[in-house]
Amino acid sequence: MSTAYICETCGVQYAPSDAEPSGCKICLDFRQYVRAGGQRWTHLDALRAERRFEIRELEPGLHGIGLDPPFGIGQRALLVRTPAGNLLWDCVPLLDPSALDALGGVAAIAVSHPHFYSTFVEWSRQFEVPVWLPRADAEWRMRSDARIQEWEGAAKPLPGLRLVQCGGHFDGNAVLLWPEGAEGRGALFTGDTVSVAADPRWVSFMRSYPNLLPLGPRALRGIVKALAPLEYDRIYSAWWDKVVPAGAKEAVNRSADRYLEQLTSG
Ligand SMILES: [Zn+2]
Ligand SMILES: [Zn+2]
Repeated sequence: MSTAYICETCGVQYAPSDAEPSGCKICLDFRQYVRAGGQRWTHLDALRAERRFEIRELEPGLHGIGLDPPFGIGQRALLVRTPAGNLLWDCVPLLDPSALDALGGVAAIAVSHPHFYSTFVEWSRQFEVPVWLPRADAEWRMRSDARIQEWEGAAKPLPGLRLVQCGGHFDGNAVLLWPEGAEGRGALFTGDTVSVAADPRWVSFMRSYPNLLPLGPRALRGIVKALAPLEYDRIYSAWWDKVVPAGAKEAVNRSADRYLEQLTSG
């Protein structure tokens, strides 16, 4: 029987196959890793039996969606409400259609970068909505689907929401601007394009998080330049507790200066 295998380390689902894929392209890349003991695969039915789908309200109009216990890279997704419908930002492998329908369903999906592609095809088929993925990272899609909406530079997946390609550890690394967020001061969803540090007054940027490889100055300046025109005061990165509640724009600029200083001072 054909199975859509899911990598246990990155959580990305592959196109259905009779046998387990020979390896996970995303984990074999230097920006991820193959765990000690080797590659392991699972599938949706097994995950459903092991884990709970979790939804939490983060602020009015915004919910976080995660798995309990966490799976793969451990990210939580975000569901943002707009007058034109809800947008799902990033993905987790399990979906609970009735819980999401109670929040108004999903009208569009966008994903920050390939580490969080997860089961985007399952989500897109369930809600029959487009998935906005940057053209630059096309080679990292492990499933194809007619609903993929390729974009480049900037895009508006729903009225009032703005996708911006910043680059980072992938060329297509993107952020989403929600101007109504943070009580109208603007919220930025960054995935791990911008990562919130241990002290949430600071953020950081990496080429490879698991392998502790820093992002070079050119790529960092590209992120800073792409974010400069955006108005935002809060950052939601990819994990429940990784949020800059206020002063996020200053935090990004201050952190980028500190980062560049460290990178060039050695
Ligand atoms: Zn993987
Ligand atoms: Zn990543």
